[in-house]
Amino acid sequence: MTSSCEARPPSILPGRARPAVALVPLSAIGRARPHVLRRDAAPPAAGPLADRLGRPLTDLRISVTDRCNFRCNYCMPKEVFDKDHPYLPHAAMLSFEEIARLARLFALQGVRKIRLTGGEPLLRRGLERLVAPLAGLRTLDGAPLDLGLTTNGSLLAHKARALKDAGLRRVTVSLDALDDTVFRRMNDVDFPVARVLAGIDAAMKAGFERIKVNMVVKRGTNDQEILPLARHFRGTGVVLRFIEYMDVGATNGWRMDEVLPSSDVLARVSRAFPLVPLEATAPGETAQRWAYADGAGEIGVIGSVTRAFCGECSRARLSTDGRLFLCLFANGGHDLKALLRECPDQAGDDLLRGRLAEIWRQRADRYSELRALGGPLPAGTARRVEMSYIGG
Ligand code: SAM
Ligand code: SF4
Ligand code: SF4
Repeated sequence: MTSSCEARPPSILPGRARPAVALVPLSAIGRARPHVLRRDAAPPAAGPLADRLGRPLTDLRISVTDRCNFRCNYCMPKEVFDKDHPYLPHAAMLSFEEIARLARLFALQGVRKIRLTGGEPLLRRGLERLVAPLAGLRTLDGAPLDLGLTTNGSLLAHKARALKDAGLRRVTVSLDALDDTVFRRMNDVDFPVARVLAGIDAAMKAGFERIKVNMVVKRGTNDQEILPLARHFRGTGVVLRFIEYMDVGATNGWRMDEVLPSSDVLARVSRAFPLVPLEATAPGETAQRWAYADGAGEIGVIGSVTRAFCGECSRARLSTDGRLFLCLFANGGHDLKALLRECPDQAGDDLLRGRLAEIWRQRADRYSELRALGGPLPAGTARRVEMSYIGG
């Protein structure tokens, strides 16, 4: 007998993009490239997957909420993300059990690294209850997953210990300025920098394997903070990374003249503190790593705009409501939630793995490379989804 969990057509949904000015109905937003799931397909063998450009799927970002207590203007500008913004209702969000089930299936297909993100992930109550089962997962070669969290740090002072005890290994804190006035202006909710710094201290005390700080550099807004941040984290073991301001989403009014190329960032830092290049630690690493020549630690630059790294992009993103996005600049995602909910058993697991394999094998996204080449961009990318929804 054939159950509904063994024969389902694929479901491809538009992303929940939020347009810059005019409201556009979801039905009008571009769709993910169609893919075909063969109804009679056997589940794929556990093992690595490769997309159409030969890129493996090793890295999964999981957005656990589309909400945030900050309103960084490069990500969730206040005018758009106001009290009337249609955030996801609770019932639409994947439960921790559903996320953990999917994560286990992704690990069977080669995922080695999982990062919890959002929105602000620490707004999701009891996040440590999700960390614990994820920490128990293993890669195909039997190692624990590289399990991390990206947070704005606002709640980290209270949560660091519980997260570490639950098995979280790495934490990345976003911090765009050391100067309190600049920081409050950038988060746009008047949040003091001292509380984020206290969160980083708490993370250091909790003993995470690796703590990173991400600074998004916007020319003319916070580039004067590059050296103060470098000075602050030198010699602490915390790795500071400078990220180019990106044209993600459709609401931040991105302009190329506000991007400070990572080569300029490096030039500024190295004038104050000589640097030597470091080897990448893993294939597909987005950051170029540099060490302080005097041994005071390392920094990274992520040239997302000026140095496209699509050729090695092995990352997928799972939105809060269970859609799989294959590129940060996608305008639609592949619905996994319906299948997840309808088919809770082994047959459902097999079908889900089949779906993952089918989706990944058809992937050919390389938005940043195409943008850098200056040619036409894939249809619909002007209406791409917001980063706070699919997870940064
Ligand atoms: N709220 C958490 C945080 O801020 O760390 C996690 C989600 S946030 C979307 C993830 C990362 O995306 C942050 O480091 C943030 O700075 C970065 N980000 C958001 N919008 C960006 C943009 N337009 N350009 C570059 N990075 C951006
Ligand atoms: Fe919130 Fe993070 Fe986006 Fe800032 S970057 S608005 S903290 S989700
Ligand atoms: Fe990956 Fe898309 Fe970014 Fe290229 S543009 S590196 S494919 S997420």
